[in-house]
Amino acid sequence: MPGRNFLFVPGPTNVPDRIQRSMMVPMEDHRSPRFPQLTQPLFPALKRVFGCREGEVFIFPSSGTGAWEASLANTLSRGDRVLAPRFGQFSHLWIDMMQRLGLRVDVLETEWGLGAQEDRIADALRRDTEHAIKAVMVVHNETATGVTSDIGAVRRVMDDLGHPALLFVDAVSSLGSIDFRFTDWGVDLAITGSQKGLMLPAGLGIVCVSPRAREAEKTADLARAFFSFADMRKSNADGYFPYTPALPLLYGLRESLAMLEEEGLPQVYARHARLAAGVREAVCAWGLATCSRATRWHSNTVTAVAVPATVDATRIIDIAYRRYDLSLGAGLSKLSGRVFRIGHLGDLNEVMLLGALGGVEMAMADAGVDFAAGSGVAAAQRFWRGAHRPALVVPETLAA
Ligand code: PLP
Repeated sequence: MPGRNFLFVPGPTNVPDRIQRSMMVPMEDHRSPRFPQLTQPLFPALKRVFGCREGEVFIFPSSGTGAWEASLANTLSRGDRVLAPRFGQFSHLWIDMMQRLGLRVDVLETEWGLGAQEDRIADALRRDTEHAIKAVMVVHNETATGVTSDIGAVRRVMDDLGHPALLFVDAVSSLGSIDFRFTDWGVDLAITGSQKGLMLPAGLGIVCVSPRAREAEKTADLARAFFSFADMRKSNADGYFPYTPALPLLYGLRESLAMLEEEGLPQVYARHARLAAGVREAVCAWGLATCSRATRWHSNTVTAVAVPATVDATRIIDIAYRRYDLSLGAGLSKLSGRVFRIGHLGDLNEVMLLGALGGVEMAMADAGVDFAAGSGVAAAQRFWRGAHRPALVVPETLAA
C-alpha cells in the first residue's frame, strides 16, 4: 500500500527519522575503551526523565516485562506480601508475575476504567498493623483502559499512615510522555520500556531504583541472575555491561534523550496533554464514551474508546488496518470487542492525529457505527486551533 502505515497503537510508537538514523551503526566492541563515552551519559539523562535526584538507573536488554521481573527479583523475598490494585490487563499481568515468582499479593479488585483508589489502599494499609505488606504496586498509566493514577496521592496516604512499604510503579506507557516525579513522589522503584514515550523500538527494559529499594536488595532472596542489579551496578560503574548490550538501541536512546531534552520535558508533557484533550473532544463529538470513567483518570497517552453494544470493536480495528492502513490498539482481555484504543504518545503532532481520527471515522462508518462523519475531526481541530501551541522555530539559515 502506498504511503505510510499510520501507527496509532499505544506502543510501539513511531520512531523519529533522527533516531532511526542514529541506530544505523556498525557493531563495535562493547568492551573497548571508547564504549563508556556512549553509555555513561545515558544514566544521568535517564534519571532526569524519571525525575530522580537520588537513586540509580539500570538498562536491561529486555522489554518492559523484563523490567517488571528485575524490579521484583532484586528487592523481595519468597512469601512476601505486597498490595496491588488490579484495574486493567497490565496491572493484571504484573500481579500474575508477582504470584508466579512466589509473592503473596493482596489484590484490590477495581473496576476497569478507574485507577488506583488511594482510600482503598489506605484502608488496606491501615489494617496491616504488623507492617507485613512490603510493597505497594501501581501501574501509573494502565494502557489497556487509558487510565492514569495519581502516584503522589498514593505516596501521601502511605506516609500519612507511617506505613514503611516500598512504592513500585509501572511507568511503561507514561515515562517521557506524562509528568513523572520519582523523587518528589517518593517512588522506590519505577520501570519502563523503550518502545513508548522514549520513541525507540522495543528492547530496553529500564528500572529506576531508590536508595530504600537498594537497601531492600540486601535481604531480598528471590532468585536473580540475568536481571541482577548487583551485576549491572558493578559493570555500569565503568560504563560497561555484564553481558552484550543491545548496541544500536543504546545509540537510539542517546538520541531519544537528546530530543526530549531539546523539546524540554514540561513541553513534552504539555504536548501530550493537548493532543489527548483533542482526541477526547473527538470521542465526545462522536457520541461515544471513553473507557476511563472520570476526568481525573483520563490518560494523556492512550484513549480507549467504548463502542455501542451493537458493534464489535474488533471489526473497526480490522477495517482500519485492511482498508486504510491505520493500526489501532485492540481491546485487551475482557475489553476485547468492546473498545478500540488510540495511542497518542511519542513523536506526534496534531496533523498526524487528525489523519488517525479521520481514519477512525472512515472505519467506524464502514462498520456501521451511528455517528456524524467528520464531527470528531472537526471537534479536535476546533480544540487544537484554540489551544496554545508553541510556534515552530525556523532555523535562522532557512529563515534568512
Ligand atoms: N506495562 C504497561 C503499562 C504496558 O503498557 C506494557 C506493554 O504495553 C507492559 C507493561 C509490558 O511491556 P512489554 O510489552 O514491553 O514487555
